[in-house]
Amino acid sequence: MTKVVKHNSMRSTNTLALFECIRKYGPITKKEIQQHTGLSWGSISTIALELISKKLIVEIKSSETVVGRTPCLLDVSSTDNFIIGVDVNLSGLTAVLIDLKCRIIKKVREEMSVPNKSNILSKISHMISELIDSVDDRHKIKGIGLALPGDIDAQQGVSIFVPHFEDFSKVPIKKILEDEFGIEVTIEHDPNCMALTERRMGLAQNVDNFMFIRLSMGIGMSIIMGGKIYRGLNGSAGQFGHVTMNPDGPRCSCGNYGCLETYASCETILRKSREGMKMGRAPVLETLLSQGDRLTLATVAKAARGSDEFIMSIFDDAATYLGIAIANVVNIFNPELIVLGGDLMNYQDIFLSKMRCFVDFKCWKNAKHPIEVSTFGSEAAAIGAALLFTDKIYEEVVSDHSEKIGD
Ligand SMILES: [Zn+2]
Repeated sequence: MTKVVKHNSMRSTNTLALFECIRKYGPITKKEIQQHTGLSWGSISTIALELISKKLIVEIKSSETVVGRTPCLLDVSSTDNFIIGVDVNLSGLTAVLIDLKCRIIKKVREEMSVPNKSNILSKISHMISELIDSVDDRHKIKGIGLALPGDIDAQQGVSIFVPHFEDFSKVPIKKILEDEFGIEVTIEHDPNCMALTERRMGLAQNVDNFMFIRLSMGIGMSIIMGGKIYRGLNGSAGQFGHVTMNPDGPRCSCGNYGCLETYASCETILRKSREGMKMGRAPVLETLLSQGDRLTLATVAKAARGSDEFIMSIFDDAATYLGIAIANVVNIFNPELIVLGGDLMNYQDIFLSKMRCFVDFKCWKNAKHPIEVSTFGSEAAAIGAALLFTDKIYEEVVSDHSEKIGD
């Protein structure tokens, strides 16, 4: 019995190693796979045949001929398996269809307009339908991943509470979408999805202990420790936007006072800009709006770049509080890396250097604190949501294999 378990375990490891190698380097020859993985020629051939029969990989003829013969190349099938990822955020909704090589095949985006339950569910449903319709056979879609803000129960697939969404508490979103589309759905906190994207394809590859901070209409954090998401006792870890910066500060959407979000979120920057303009303190912004620009973060940033002192001071405040809060994180965790992402990073030229100064100034003097900016832009969370399913597919590859051997 022990022998069988050991054998299964080794075969599973070999299967995963082979699949991951093909996913990463394909199209690739068996000889090259042998060099990367150290697997025997026989193992590669046997496992490859199984993966071909499951339509996870394909064999293609090389265009190059070597000494009178044409070597075969193995690659991940680009036509048989797709995953949908949806990012639900107050600043808008983004959905992507990706293949197993994590390439975006199609992307759709919707504005949030009114953030209430029926509106949000209808937009999610509409976007998923559009992506499903773009594939010739819906059975090729292996799963739908959802990146959600606020409190979630990832295991039950329930959105517990989202501060900015109306009428959106205890929504069994996994069940709702599975009933509608008949495709497995999984949900995850949005910064965790963005962290997953960085870990799989971005700045945090080979980094086991890091934080991803999403600076958008709200502020969220993913904590990755030992290569795994740290969720805390009941899943509430990473509520970085709601650490108290000032107990006498403004009321926050969470009901508390003086949270980081009330100083540094995109929503706060927009609200303060609107208030300043009403008081006649933001002349450059006022001129831009009189010329037809809408009051968006892009317009506010334009005013700051146009030397609107009041608007500049709003960004300066955000930089100060963010710098202090990040320094606190560095002092507690001293992580290998902190990655910043989200809508606010589109305007990093206005606040990032000041924020970095405050981190330097406030953190423990010996604590190294590498801080990088994500390069994935607005699709990072949607891609990460879809990646939740690539892991599931890998697990299935292994478990199917183990069952067969155990029979
Ligand atoms: Zn709060």
